[in-house]
Order: sequence, then C-alpha cells, then structure tokens
Amino acid sequence: MKPIKILIATPEAIPFAKTGGLADVTGALPKVLKGLGCEVRLIMPFYRQIQEPGEKTDIKDTGIQVSVPLGFREIDVSVFEGSANGIPAYFLKRDEYYDRKYLYTMPDGDYFDNAERFILFSRGVIEAIKKLDFQPDIIHCHDWQTGLISTYLKTIYKDAQFFANTKTVFTIHNIAYQGQFPESHFSLTGLPQGAFTPDGIEFWGNMNLLKAGIIFSDIVTTVSEKYSKEIQTPEFGYGLEGVLMAKKDKLFGVLNGVDYDDWSPEKDKFTIANYDYKNLSGKAECRKDLLREYMLNLPDNAPVIGIISRLADQKGFDILSQAMEDLMSMNIGMVVLGTGEKKYHDLFAELAKKYPKKLGVKITFDNKLAHKIEAGSDMFLMPSKYEPCGLNQIYSLKYGTIPIVRATGGLDDTIQDYTPPPSHPLLKRGFSNEPTGNGFKFNEYSSHALLTKIKEAVKIFPNKKEWEKLAQTAMQQDFSWQRSAKRYVELYERLLTP
Ligand code: ADP
Repeated sequence: MKPIKILIATPEAIPFAKTGGLADVTGALPKVLKGLGCEVRLIMPFYRQIQEPGEKTDIKDTGIQVSVPLGFREIDVSVFEGSANGIPAYFLKRDEYYDRKYLYTMPDGDYFDNAERFILFSRGVIEAIKKLDFQPDIIHCHDWQTGLISTYLKTIYKDAQFFANTKTVFTIHNIAYQGQFPESHFSLTGLPQGAFTPDGIEFWGNMNLLKAGIIFSDIVTTVSEKYSKEIQTPEFGYGLEGVLMAKKDKLFGVLNGVDYDDWSPEKDKFTIANYDYKNLSGKAECRKDLLREYMLNLPDNAPVIGIISRLADQKGFDILSQAMEDLMSMNIGMVVLGTGEKKYHDLFAELAKKYPKKLGVKITFDNKLAHKIEAGSDMFLMPSKYEPCGLNQIYSLKYGTIPIVRATGGLDDTIQDYTPPPSHPLLKRGFSNEPTGNGFKFNEYSSHALLTKIKEAVKIFPNKKEWEKLAQTAMQQDFSWQRSAKRYVELYERLLTP
C-alpha cells in the first residue's frame, strides 16, 4: 500500500514555536506517524521566534511565493522550508503578520488582527501546497487558527481537481479558545455569504473559526476520551455542545501521547542528575538542585509540590488561591513556574514574599526549569477546572513525581486515585495486597476538596517505602505516542477507504 500522505497544519509546533501543549503534540506526532509508515509534512506561520538564530537555522527560502486572496487584496506570502526530526516543515512568511514578539496574545490582550493573520494562514496553506505540488491524502488541522482550511476545501475549492482526494481531520485542543470575531471580518475570508449562517461559521452573530473547523472537517478529534464526552455538554462545550452533539458520529477522543525522548529522567539533559525507576537516588539530587534554584529551605520529610502552568482560571488557580494560606501552614514546599493572568502573578508574588522559605515563584516561560521541576518535585499539582488532556501530569508520572489532579478531561483518563494496601491483617483477606492507583484525584471543584486530597498525599509521603513504590509504579506507565498515533492512522484510513 502507498504511504498515507499527511499535512499537519498548525499554529505552533516544537522545536519551532510553542505556547502550550499543542506545540508538544504537533512536534511529536509527525515523527511517530512517520515511524508507522506515513509520509508527513508540517506547515505553520514563520514567526519571529523561528527566524531568530539558534537551533533552527536550517530554514531556507524555497523561492516559492504564493498570492493569497484576503478580502479585496492579494497578499504575497513566501514559503520557507526546514525540518525537524526528519519531518519536512514549511513556513509561511509574511512579516507584517507573523514577525512579532508573541504568537497570538500580548500581556494586555490578543493581537487586534488575529482574524486576518489566521485567515491568511489557512488560505495560504491551501495555495502553498498547490504550488509545492504536495497533494496530501489528509490535512490534519489543529485548533481555531486552522479552522478555515476545511471550510475552503468544502466551498471555494470544492471542484479543485488537486484536492479531489484530500480529506480533513480537525483536532480541538481546547474548546474555550474558538477564534471568534465580529461579522465585519467575514469578508476577509472570501467565502460565499451562504457560509455565514448558524449551520456554517456564524455563531450568535459572530464568525467562529473553531466552529468552522468542526462543521466542515471530515473527522473531528479531541485530546482525550473524557473531554470528547464533556464538550458535548453545556458545562464544558462553551456554546458548541449542540454542534458537537450533532457531529458525534464523527467525533473521537484520542489521548495525547508523550515524547519520552524529551521527557524522561533517564536521559533528561536539563537536570543535574539522571535516574530511573530502579534507582531513584538521582531524584534526591534533583530535588536539592530545585530547592537551591528556588532558594527554599525545607526539611527532608516535607514534600515539594510543583506547578508548571499557564496562570489561568482554567487551571484551577481560583480554588488554589483560596487554599494557599492553609497549604502554607502545612509541612510542605511549593515551586511555581508560569505566566498568564496578572491577578495570579500578583497573588503568587505576594505569597512568595510572605513565605520565602516554603514557596518559590517564577513568572516566566522556561523549558529547562520545567524539566527541573518535573524531576525535583515530589508531587505535581493540577487542580484544573477543565483539562482537555494535560501533559504535565503524564510527564510527572515518568519522573516519579506524583500527580494530584482534579477528575476532569485527560486528567481523569490518565490518573487513578491511590488506594493504599490494606493495613489490617483481617482486611487483607480476600483483597489484593497491592496498592492501586498512580496519583491522587479529587472530584469536586472546591478548595476544600483540593486541600483534603493534598493532605491525604502529604500524610503518606513520610512513609518512604510506600511512597517510593508509588513513584516506581507511576514511572513504569507508558503513555508514549505509539498507541495514540496508531489510533490517528486508523481514523485516516477510515476516511480514505472508499
Ligand atoms: P496547556 O496546553 O493547556 O497550556 P498542557 O499541560 O497540555 O497545558 O501543556 C503545557 C505545556 O507547556 C507543557 O509542556 C508544559 O511543560 C509547558 N509549559 C506551560 N507553562 C510553562 C512555563 N511557564 N515554562 C515552561 N513550560 C511551560
């Protein structure tokens, strides 16, 4: 059989540009798909971060230019080419749109022309691959920034011979981010007016690019099984639950995998020591190093709780804020790495001043430090309100850093609540002696439930033998991309089978 030709269209991917988990996914998935025999290429905007000299210097101008309609104008876009991990990557270059400090959002809000930037990108992808003469079987699009690609293929390009055999898959990484813009921006798309209806890309009078992706793509996926169900309900669907319910036969949950080349304690190049589940001594060194880095002073029996996160309401910082004083009265330390909403910057900065020995806070984006936190912490906290998949809890498992999570989305799918072995001999009868679970999980979205669960974990921590066993169980779990990538291939094949 001929290899399936796949184009991954994404607004971000490591090692080129990253704001969150999406970049990890689009960075890792292509190489695993390639390993499964697919022919994969990637396409994304040519941001300033990619142009800056560094590891990514093999990027060259292909000399190809495409003229992309945008409203009444035609915009010339240059196509650059590079690669990562043997996957060819194309970059659409138009500096007035993409040569900026941030990808989508400045500290004080979104770029005013995000609609224009990603309408241009979506249409640019289609024009570029025509000119590159790369005829994909599947265009796998990610998030609202690519939502219009399938819309164009089903409307303006529906009779284009070049795309006659091309199918689209659209993955929703977070339904709260929909790319909604006033109707006035619709004319920039060049789409027929008939597309701007409640059955199409209109959403309560606005244009909604995520909705476009959902409606016009052949298959829609999201990043965990549980989240694929949750988003069909009003609580999680952010208004699109009805659209998703109507599409439920074409909606699938595929759990994100983890790239263990980047995230495993055996070969982590950013940590002071390496270790594996058979010998955790390196982890103790990593803990010391982390405490030094954050200038914390903790007794050995006090667990370090790590947090690496966007500081946003979604991630549970409202319930955590209310619990912080109680937490700081416990025998624990806490290290926080994140950027996001100013109210949380201020809150954590203030608390860190108040508890300098126990709480360390760094308001920045720092991949190296993220690795040090995964390795050096004893527990990892993710009290999310909702979490499509979540990657850090899966990284944490590999580092023997026990996740404490709320039971939502991918957190619920990946973490099972710990049940200690029965301690009383009579209780043991008829039960397995083995503890079960790989972390700590609470249900109710409240600071009370959060605190109760943290206390449970903190109580077990001083029992070194039990804790080490739990860490070893966690470290041996496998969430590599193989299984998830195979699932994507199955979905691609389903679309390509006549
Ligand atoms: P989301 O995509 O919703 O932000 P995920 O858990 O899916 O959350 O992925 C977050 C990714 O971004 C992880 O790889 C995490 O390590 C990384 N990350 C988040 N904030 C920071 C930060 N401040 N510094 C370094 N890495 C970060």
